[in-house]
Amino acid sequence: MRMTQTLMAGLAAAAMAFALPTGALAQDKGTIGIAMPTKSSARWIADGNSMVEQFEAAGYATDLQYAEDDIPNQLAQIENMVTKGVSALVIASIDGTTLSNVLANAAASDIPVVAYDRLIRDSENVDYYATFDNFQVGVLQAQSIVDALDLKNEEGPFNIELFGGSPDDNNAYFFYDGAMSVLQPHIDSGKLVVKSGQMGMDTVGTLRWDGSVAQARMDNLLSAHYTDDQVDAVLSPYDGLSIGILSSLKGVGYGSGDLEMPVVSGQDAEIPSVKSILAGEQSSTIFKDTRELAKVTVAMVDALLSDEEPEVNDTETYDNGVKVVPSYLLKPVLVTEDNITEALVDSGYYTTEQIQ
Ligand code: BGC
Repeated sequence: MRMTQTLMAGLAAAAMAFALPTGALAQDKGTIGIAMPTKSSARWIADGNSMVEQFEAAGYATDLQYAEDDIPNQLAQIENMVTKGVSALVIASIDGTTLSNVLANAAASDIPVVAYDRLIRDSENVDYYATFDNFQVGVLQAQSIVDALDLKNEEGPFNIELFGGSPDDNNAYFFYDGAMSVLQPHIDSGKLVVKSGQMGMDTVGTLRWDGSVAQARMDNLLSAHYTDDQVDAVLSPYDGLSIGILSSLKGVGYGSGDLEMPVVSGQDAEIPSVKSILAGEQSSTIFKDTRELAKVTVAMVDALLSDEEPEVNDTETYDNGVKVVPSYLLKPVLVTEDNITEALVDSGYYTTEQIQ
């Protein structure tokens, strides 16, 4: 009996020692509402986890919600956070143009808003923006294609097809424009040929970044324009699309026999794509360290809630239609088979086992 009591007292004390500090701190500093678009892509899961970890380490509680790419669902989640009186909102929007009303409510309750990774458009109630240099992402994707085709030395012409991201995501235009800043001169000179003639975000966009939509479009491109010819490169803005595009290509025999796999770009360094690069299929991806984006965001929110000015490094690029949102842009990193270990394993982002 005495032993049990002592043991229980000991356990209770231990539990308190563990439970109190974070609990008490989190209570003190308030709750941060984090609205993420979807769990269907691993990057957003990593973003959410990094933010929860880092906000909690800084003494905040968190309310993390995923909306499975459903706009009304995301709206309801954010409305709910505003009603519950969160201290700040961090939002990676599904459709960057649909949040004006809920953000007006947030502003009325003095809840600051940080746009996370994707710009929120058409609202004055977006205080700051934490993201990567999205134009540069497109530049790197296109540069990887130009380098893999060795356009410096090769005359070509090479056939290329273009894919864009979701037209309701502001980033998609930056990626496309960045890529075209590199590709257009080669298209103009005739070294690169878009056989389908399909160009421009209106035509090549992929709603909700859906890999199966990209796969279906690639199927159509191949059967309409490449029965007697070969496609040499595909600009893909996101790994999830690249995987769909690659499976369409494999379906008609690319990557086996004489039919070489075209150069296919990507983004996010998701594990299936890293494995695909190691297998010699996808050519490149773009690594955006979500731990760093979380760090910048936590620092921004913490500054806002401490009446300090958040650090930014861009006050010109991101006009959301109502105002230029002060931004912090991180640097994206091009990953090919040459630097996978250095970029993704040495940085501690993945273990070797995860990508084997
Ligand atoms: C992000 C990309 C991501 C894409 C699809 C974009 O807004 O910046 O990293 O590949 O959404 O989830």
